[in-house]
Amino acid sequence: MVEETIFSKIIRREIPADILYQDELVTAFRDISPQAPTHILIIPNHLIATANDVKQSDEAALGRMMIVAARLAKEEGIDEDGYRLIMNCNKHGGQEVYHIHMHLVGGKPLGPMLSK
Ligand code: 5GP
Repeated sequence: MVEETIFSKIIRREIPADILYQDELVTAFRDISPQAPTHILIIPNHLIATANDVKQSDEAALGRMMIVAARLAKEEGIDEDGYRLIMNCNKHGGQEVYHIHMHLVGGKPLGPMLSK
């Protein structure tokens, strides 16, 4: 059985978070430890632990995450300059929270995609 993370509590508003968007499929909130002027996490409301666990039935939520990312990038005023969408998977990907999430990062030049 997959264990809930702190993100489930954020979705249910049991702990505080700066929630920017929520609907029946996804929730978006500011990262507690921002790596750039804009750093937002977009997550499905139902628990998917990692990218490895994505199923056909998750298609709507994952598609909505992308739609919400584009909408929030526009609202943050970073859509024209550009930004980065990141999903980390497991240990080598640097995943810390095992509830799948898309990082929307921008507001400054982000440099090369990967450090060496
Ligand atoms: P990962 O490394 O798993 O891709 O990213 C997890 C992200 O979640 C990190 O950027 C971290 O700062 C953020 N995070 C962890 N716990 C919390 C929390 O309680 N609230 C918020 N808003 N962000 C969190």
